[in-house]
Amino acid sequence: MTEQITRATFDEVMVPNYAPADIIPVSGKGSRLWDQQGKEYIDFAGGIAVTSLGHAHPVLVETMREQAGKLWHLSNVLTNEPALRLAKKLTQKTFADRVFLANSGAEANEAAFKLARRYAFDHYGPEKHEIISFYQSFHGRTLFTVTVGGQPKYREGFEPTPGGITHCEYNNIEQLKSLISDKTCAVVMEPIQGEGGIVPADENFIKQARELCDQHKALLVFDEVQSGVGRSGTLYAYQQTGIEPDILTTAKSLGNGFPVAAMLCTDKVAKSFSVGTHGTTYGGNPMAAAIAEAVIDIVDSEDVLEGVKKRHAMFVQALKEINDKYHVFKDIRGMGLLIGAEVVDELVGQAKQFLKHAIDEGLLVLVAGPNVVRFAPSLIIPEVDIKEGFTRFERAVSKVAGSM
Ligand SMILES: *Cc1c(COP(=O)(O)O)cnc(C)c1O
Repeated sequence: MTEQITRATFDEVMVPNYAPADIIPVSGKGSRLWDQQGKEYIDFAGGIAVTSLGHAHPVLVETMREQAGKLWHLSNVLTNEPALRLAKKLTQKTFADRVFLANSGAEANEAAFKLARRYAFDHYGPEKHEIISFYQSFHGRTLFTVTVGGQPKYREGFEPTPGGITHCEYNNIEQLKSLISDKTCAVVMEPIQGEGGIVPADENFIKQARELCDQHKALLVFDEVQSGVGRSGTLYAYQQTGIEPDILTTAKSLGNGFPVAAMLCTDKVAKSFSVGTHGTTYGGNPMAAAIAEAVIDIVDSEDVLEGVKKRHAMFVQALKEINDKYHVFKDIRGMGLLIGAEVVDELVGQAKQFLKHAIDEGLLVLVAGPNVVRFAPSLIIPEVDIKEGFTRFERAVSKVAGSM
């Protein structure tokens, strides 16, 4: 019973909330993918900043096989060995004392925002419930997370949305000062905005936000769903700032494509999630936890993290060289292997053109909003693949430039 699957099948049977490209990849190895017709693609996208160790990494394949033969699922009624091993590792390597495991970035954030509210409720009463986040930020697609997120298009038509949420301009400390008050329970920030266009927070902004939170007894929440697990060049991006949050969320790269997420927090804050206050059936299931532990073991090594810095330089250099010839980008920015190239004014709204032409040339890239081409490859992408990828990217760029 093998029915031929084509792109048309999507339009037949799926809810139309996505518009996938025509290509249908069926296998991958490292940073290369092959579609149904056997055409090869170099992967500068990594899903969307997810497959940080590439496709079919032998250690991860073996870890999954081994765990699959032992135990897939346990309820939270029982103690879960792989989950505790993962949690121990995450606490040893970060500011955090405590971990809540979930399945997706949105769920980790949902837990973070609920915990921030509950902590303020427990210690200061119900008045202290306001959350401040930033315009253009992205925190997931549940009703709470689209409301905290700073892009109104994701909540339009889904109202009424949860109340008590205010948005501030990113990197604008004066505005944050004017918005924060003793009613604020949390300030929620991506240390580098991903979906919002690969925009890093200023170091001073993060520092002053931390101070404002302390003054007003508000929690600082870092959403590192996209920037985490080595993508920034350190295990978490906050580790480059000298500032520690009270709560941090991590997902995407954590399972290299296997669904897993975590909310990390301090001991003090964790106490407000007492028995029965929050939960999930699948969060931290043994499969996900075993794979995430293996991912952390591989990523958190000098070899991989130094490699991210080296590859960052190679990506930026290659983009600059292409741009010197074609003048299609006005800014190239980012951290580690989360890099954005913002298109020039003549190409406003057309970042997608690069993605389309790249696919024709056998290369996968991403956009981050209408004006930024985004690169989020595997952290261990081989140099030859970077070289070949940019040869293909240059051909795509020349086509876009030719249409200007
Ligand atoms: C992708 C993303 C999310 C949502 O993660 P899901 O796993 O899709 O729910 C949240 N925050 C940031 C910063 C993200 O990039």
